[in-house]
Amino acid sequence: MVTLFRLMPLRRKLITIMLLTSGISLLMITAALILHEEVRFRESAVNQLASIGKVIAANTTAALSFDDPGAAGDTLAALAAHPEIRQAHIIRRDGALFAAYPAGRDSAAPGSDEDDHWDRDFLDRSLETIRAGESGEFYSFRPNELDVYVTIRLDDELLGLVHLTSDMTELSSNLSRYYGIVALAAVMSLLVTVVVSARLQRVVSAPIMDLTRTMAGVSQSNDYAVRLPRRYTDARYPARRGDEIDALIDGFNDMLLQIGLRDERLARQGEILESQVADRTAALSTANDELERTVRELRHAKRTAEAANRAKSEFLANMSHEIRTPMNGVLGMMELLLETDLSDRQRRYADAVRRSGETLVSLINSILDLSKIEAGKMELELGTLDVRTLVRDLTDFFDGQAAAKGVNLACFVPASIPGGLIGDAGRLRQILTNLIGNAIKFTGNGGTVTVRVGPADVTPGQDASAGPVRLRFEVADTGIGIQPDKQATIFEVFAQADGSTTRRYGGTGLGLAIARQLCALMGGEIGVASAPGSGSTFWFTVQFRQLADVEPAPGAGAAASGRVHGPDGARRLSGRVLLVEDNPVNREVATERLMRLGCTVDVAANGIEALDRARHHSYDLILMDCQMPELDGFDATRAIRLDETRLPGTRARHVPIVALTANALEGDRERCLAAGMDDYLAKPFSHSQLSDVVGRWLTPGGYPPVGEPGRMETTESLGPLDSRTLDELRRMAGGGRPDLLASVARIYLESTPELLERLRAGAKIGDWHLLAATAHALKSSSGSIGAAELSARCRDLETAARRAAGGAAPDDLVPGRVVGAIEAEYGRVCAALASLAPPTPAETISS
Ligand code: ADP
Repeated sequence: MVTLFRLMPLRRKLITIMLLTSGISLLMITAALILHEEVRFRESAVNQLASIGKVIAANTTAALSFDDPGAAGDTLAALAAHPEIRQAHIIRRDGALFAAYPAGRDSAAPGSDEDDHWDRDFLDRSLETIRAGESGEFYSFRPNELDVYVTIRLDDELLGLVHLTSDMTELSSNLSRYYGIVALAAVMSLLVTVVVSARLQRVVSAPIMDLTRTMAGVSQSNDYAVRLPRRYTDARYPARRGDEIDALIDGFNDMLLQIGLRDERLARQGEILESQVADRTAALSTANDELERTVRELRHAKRTAEAANRAKSEFLANMSHEIRTPMNGVLGMMELLLETDLSDRQRRYADAVRRSGETLVSLINSILDLSKIEAGKMELELGTLDVRTLVRDLTDFFDGQAAAKGVNLACFVPASIPGGLIGDAGRLRQILTNLIGNAIKFTGNGGTVTVRVGPADVTPGQDASAGPVRLRFEVADTGIGIQPDKQATIFEVFAQADGSTTRRYGGTGLGLAIARQLCALMGGEIGVASAPGSGSTFWFTVQFRQLADVEPAPGAGAAASGRVHGPDGARRLSGRVLLVEDNPVNREVATERLMRLGCTVDVAANGIEALDRARHHSYDLILMDCQMPELDGFDATRAIRLDETRLPGTRARHVPIVALTANALEGDRERCLAAGMDDYLAKPFSHSQLSDVVGRWLTPGGYPPVGEPGRMETTESLGPLDSRTLDELRRMAGGGRPDLLASVARIYLESTPELLERLRAGAKIGDWHLLAATAHALKSSSGSIGAAELSARCRDLETAARRAAGGAAPDDLVPGRVVGAIEAEYGRVCAALASLAPPTPAETISS
């Protein structure tokens, strides 16, 4: 009900409130009126009837005293003048009826059962009360009737009672009419209230409805300019604000005003923002255009710079080639000229020309190196190198120069430095040459220059037989030293510690800058410690890769007695292997090694033979040399793989092919895999490296019987031959070929003279291809028998000849001189091999 009221429109609410209020008031007033009227009406009826009763009582005293009912009847007959009195009785104090009106109603005496007008209980109680001494009158209302009893006394003695019954019908109907009129008046006034309240409620509801409608309109139209008129305005009393509704309207108008103002502000801000955005967009677009133009210009500039850089590199390469070729001529001729008879003056001049020429060539080489490094085109040429040999050769080289200046030159390379490392020997030599050259240059008569090599940052407990090896090289002198503030700058391009040094000592200031870049390329760094007047110590570190089975050189620590390199040395494999190798020495060594591992070996001398054998026999593994005449290893592999795809499904199989290549350069492995090979073994390889690779592809066939390889002996180095290789060949002799070393030496001595012939011919006619191919073959054979130095020289010749064959500048290469040096070393190797006594029983394996 309350909810219903709450949901009503305001208008109805107001009407309902007013109706309820006035209805309740009317109801209460009407009730009071009716109550009052009822009481008054009853009182007047009782009083009237009691007055009549009292008159009759006074008039019937005598009749009762004298027991004269007739006189009493006569008195009662006078009641005929009161038609409303329906009956009357005189009752004696004992309750007996004395007289009645109208006459004849005696039989129906009060209290008799026939008289329904008698309230018997009431009569009895009245009589008892009256007898007890009470006086007065008693009345009782019944429907449409009123009974009144009045006592009849004579000097306080009770004689009897007068009973009157009055008919109230007419009076009741009068009363009902009165009630009707009152009710009608109430209803009428309620109706009037409805009409009046319906009109009056508008005073409150109309402005609120207006407000509601206006609010809805504003929220729909967003028109905040709308205003509601105030209802109360009085120019005389402007301070009077009207009632709460006026305050509400004022508040509403004020709110619209504020919203309107805020909207205006927002619109203004929006416009400002829009214009700012437009400005910024325009600025951005301008900046963007600018940027795009700059990027275009930069791209163009970059392309131009790249082109210029390429042009510069090409120019430098061409220029160095163009200058060096005639310079080689000049220097060569100068050497010849100096060997002729010359006057002292002429000799001095010619000598000066030669020195200047040599300086010029070295300057050009430095500039070429620098431009290569700066263009990021400097590539390392990795190969096996022997640090001891390299340092020893360099000090040999500088001996004469040092002696001429009266400078002592010493070198220390500890025996623990590993022998078989992979690195760029040429670049290492270049750094050392620069440092040793500087040291001699800046050290005076009686001074000392010392070259030292040692391990760099050795970690305790580190396994020295695996992973990269870092070596530290030191060139210390007792020369002029370097000022502390110059020590950092001398590694910059064209920087010299003292401007006057150029005049006094010569030099370009490029050597240390190149050395620093080369050290960084080789994974190391360079530095100097120096005190002016006391000398300088230049040091640098280089990182080398290590051949997997590198062992310390003979005579160093535990290696002195030799050892059996564990399970690898005793490994036993089974399977049929095809060895494809064109070099007879290598073929012999590898065959022997494979047989010692337990394999059955077939050999092929080139790709065509290999293909033929692979077609007619089934192999468990093929070891394929890469560079061979007729058909090289790459093409042979491709052909074998093609054959495999043509085999019917049941016979289809993939024979593992392991590449044997001498070029241990980055990218070789990928090339081999791309041709269809499965694995890769870089030459020269040791027995255990071969065993590892072959073991990966063949099923192990068990281990050799007890007592086969046991103790092995090492021999001293035999000049140009590497003792470890000789040891290994000796150890292999235990596999049933006691004459292996002699046999290999014989094959080498038989097959290589022809290679020397070809080298000489190639040098004579300047045939780079012939030189490269022949140097490759000799390098390979020499590596297999342990002629490391000869192999290294052949490798250098091969690399230079290949570059020259490809059109590159031939790096100071005077073929005749290089081949001459190779021939000299070859002579030493042959002499050493010839002097090799057949293995004595003590050097063979004791079983
Ligand atoms: P160059 O010697 O050709 O001028 P470098 O780059 O090899 O160029 O050397 C730069 C400078 O460093 C030298 O000019 C010299 O001033 C100084 N320097 C190099 N080595 C030594 C040294 N051992 N003793 C004193 N000064 C040296």
